Amino acid sequence: MPAYEWLTEFLLSAFPDGAALHEPTFSGNEWNYVKDCLDTGWVSSVGGYVDRFEEMLCDVTGREAAVATVNGTAAMHLLLVALGVRHGDEIIMPALTFVATANAAVHAGAHPHFVDVETTTLGLDPGALERRLHDIGEQRDGVLMNRETGARIRAVVGVDVFGHPCDAPALAKVADDFGITYLQDSAESLGSLRGSKPAAAGGLAAILSFNGNKTVTTGGGGAVVTDDEALAPV
Ligand SMILES: *Cc1c(COP(=O)(O)O)cnc(C)c1O
Repeated sequence: MPAYEWLTEFLLSAFPDGAALHEPTFSGNEWNYVKDCLDTGWVSSVGGYVDRFEEMLCDVTGREAAVATVNGTAAMHLLLVALGVRHGDEIIMPALTFVATANAAVHAGAHPHFVDVETTTLGLDPGALERRLHDIGEQRDGVLMNRETGARIRAVVGVDVFGHPCDAPALAKVADDFGITYLQDSAESLGSLRGSKPAAAGGLAAILSFNGNKTVTTGGGGAVVTDDEALAPV
């Protein structure tokens, strides 16, 4: 049985019908901050709180730049478009993730290409990734193509499932060996460390989500964090 099937069965049994995946708690200055936004009229995509939020995200992820977005799906969609992902390209991602990872690829016109996970991290299996790229990959004029589908393979997205950091260094190394970009979906791992580094420090860029069921919530929200000046002014 593939690892993702085993894990899916396990997770379904761990979260029976009606159990909330994560419930938010509010115990700080939330009411004051919301009132401040209403009193000052800064209730939309800009304002002092957005700038502060982006600065704090840089601090907590160790990244040079953060761009706040409307949600995590939009963050991944924007990131793929900013990287030049085109209609028909393939994006490799783990078979065990929230549907948003695949939705963002589809919104960008790309095809999600699923590779199995490992039971140790719950994340994309670097060995399985290597084998898959070796089996189906073909370099044509310095571009990695899928010889079975004829599509260009653009990027690999690693996901930190339920806050467990995937093996980003090993995944990034495989992606690099095949000449494609490694990205990080850290929507579930704000606050997690991979070794001594924040989980969202992996890859060229990472996305975060602040949906109501994440470790930190803004109701709905997301961000791209990166050190890459071509993606975001640092
Ligand atoms: C929550 C989540 C996202 C983004 O979700 P939004 O609801 O759009 O903020 C992306 N990937 C994973 C793995 C997630 O859990």
